[in-house]
Amino acid sequence: MILANYHTHNYFCDGKEAPEVYVKKAIELQFKALGFSSHAPVLFDNEYSIPPEKLGDYCSEIERLKEKYQDQIEIYLALEADYIPNKTHDFSYFRKECKLDYIIGSIHLVAHPQSGEIWFIDGGKQEKWDRGLKEVFSGDIQAGVKAFYCQTNEMIESQRPEILGHFDKIKMHNKNRFFTQEDSWYQKLVQESLQLIKEKDVVLEINTRGIYTDRFDDLFPGIPIILKAQELGIPLMLNTDAHHPDELLGYYPEALKIIKSAGIRELWHFSKKGWFSIPIN
Ligand SMILES: [Zn+2]
Ligand SMILES: [Zn+2]
Repeated sequence: MILANYHTHNYFCDGKEAPEVYVKKAIELQFKALGFSSHAPVLFDNEYSIPPEKLGDYCSEIERLKEKYQDQIEIYLALEADYIPNKTHDFSYFRKECKLDYIIGSIHLVAHPQSGEIWFIDGGKQEKWDRGLKEVFSGDIQAGVKAFYCQTNEMIESQRPEILGHFDKIKMHNKNRFFTQEDSWYQKLVQESLQLIKEKDVVLEINTRGIYTDRFDDLFPGIPIILKAQELGIPLMLNTDAHHPDELLGYYPEALKIIKSAGIRELWHFSKKGWFSIPIN
């Protein structure tokens, strides 16, 4: 087994502490690899992503750490990029600007397909999620969730991220109030997205952040979806989405146990030579 985390944030975006503090912590934890994936700059003001003028500094700092610690740990330069039609850069822009090892594509903001208004589905506040659903989608949960998965599909097809981040984060503030994951319309959306993930050869992330931040009591995605993904032959990876060095292993050992006992046999990792899988033991 190898320890690694490919989804982390630091003070260049909304994470805490400098990237080097994460590197030192990861070495202490005997990680084989550490991937930096700060939120990519977007085309509107916000408080969570790298300010556009800082993107160069972010990339050169990670490159410096790669070099400095090359004998102790593999370090990867990545971005977690949002996709919102007409409001975000094309992912190819970031690939041109920086020598990225990979991009995690994630949906945090759902655009209404006609009005273009935005529903923020992440963060710590359920009231905000509720308000967005009401104001942007007139409370129509099926329309809102459908827009989330359609945007995910569009991102996979048009932007080709290597990794899909927290696949079903839309469920976080729902907490079984507006829909359940067993609803047939919901399962259909999930199944369609999984088929596309398989077809486009995207790595599906299993993300532990909801649990150790106490925002949700399950992984993103949960076990039934993880098992479906395995059935389809989709490569799976495990990340904590750390926003602080102390979160580098947030719920990681527990999640490993859970997915192993559910029947997941292997996890995928990134290296300079490309992707490879390791059996869970
Ligand atoms: Zn995210
Ligand atoms: Zn993240």
